[in-house]
Amino acid sequence: MTDQTIEPGSVLGVLGGGQLGALFAGAANAAGYRVAVWDPDPDAPAHRLAAYSFAAPFADLTTFAAFAAVVSVVTYEWENVPAELCERLEREKPVRPSSGVLRHIQNRLVQKRFLAREGFPVPRFAALTNPDQMPEVLREVGSPAVCKTAMAGYDGKGQWKVDEPRAVPRILPSIKASARPGMQWIVEAYVPFERELSILAARGVDGGVIVYPLVENEHEQGILRTTLVPALVSEAVAERAEGLARAVVERLEGVGLFCLELFLLPGNDVQINEVAPRPHNSGHYTLNASSLSQFEQQVRTVCGLPPEKPRLLSAAAMVNLIGDELNRMKQEPECVKLLELPHTFLHDYGKRETRPRRKMGHVTFLAEERATVKARAEELRDRLHAAQAR
Ligand code: AMP
Repeated sequence: MTDQTIEPGSVLGVLGGGQLGALFAGAANAAGYRVAVWDPDPDAPAHRLAAYSFAAPFADLTTFAAFAAVVSVVTYEWENVPAELCERLEREKPVRPSSGVLRHIQNRLVQKRFLAREGFPVPRFAALTNPDQMPEVLREVGSPAVCKTAMAGYDGKGQWKVDEPRAVPRILPSIKASARPGMQWIVEAYVPFERELSILAARGVDGGVIVYPLVENEHEQGILRTTLVPALVSEAVAERAEGLARAVVERLEGVGLFCLELFLLPGNDVQINEVAPRPHNSGHYTLNASSLSQFEQQVRTVCGLPPEKPRLLSAAAMVNLIGDELNRMKQEPECVKLLELPHTFLHDYGKRETRPRRKMGHVTFLAEERATVKARAEELRDRLHAAQAR
């Protein structure tokens, strides 16, 4: 215990009250802390678990004063909270990960430049400040390429694949339609990945780092669909991913829980797609399959306790429930049968409004064998697709 340790009974502040904020609040409450949630949306799920609930815009000065006064430490559930707000809060209370770390991460261009400067493997990329310069930028990066908004994109939002230079005139109107004054984009080489992987790492105020097992992810239309753990990769790939995760959080000097999204290329090369300064959807399996969930680890590190090496309890597969799939699944007898299998866990985020592409919950399957959970996850995914098509 150090003078940077936050004692149980204290109030932990979290900016953002979606499912990640709610799961953080649940872990914090279980560890004896209270939570202050600040999310402009009064329906955000984390408000229901909060001892102090602030549903005002992030620019609200009265809320700032009340929030800063009540909390002992602040964290955030995702990287799109205003960095200026974190900077102002930091003058009063510790913010973990710090506003400096958030600044390095929340803008994709700044993040990729940081990673490249530090010698980490990332896809080729270039900045785009004016969509009309796309042909020149594409010549520099090569095609196919992916154009992403530098700020505020997630789950494939604000992304355009550019297959070849001839496709530019067709795509430009959509990019221009989304443009706001001063907006920037990053254009990245499209990576012909074999698989997508991710890895969680936690770093404490003492500088200690732990990593979770490497996992495999499948996406559909830019949104995570399934996660499978352990990843079926060579030892060399697992070690490389672990080394990258450790080195990135160390170079960032980040305190808290982080996730690296990775591409596995042919020939066993690994590239970093993105770094998240927070728990990650691909880490939700830890709620059921790990001795310490990613949210428990987040609470520990945000509160100044040393990170604890987690133990994987079994193989696991997680399937996201997107849009109306949560409701639909409960009406499909074959899906219900899957949910009734032993060691199967349904997590409902309790969101009031169902919207297309919105993450509403997830299902985690546990079993001794990786092949068993993989097959169950694939069956659920296929049944959800079939139900959608009807
Ligand atoms: P992101 O929001 O950057 O994490 O991207 C969401 C998903 O889009 C990724 O998980 C990939 O499936 C895909 N993607 C993003 N960037 C690239 C890239 N440079 N090459 C290939 N696929 C990508």
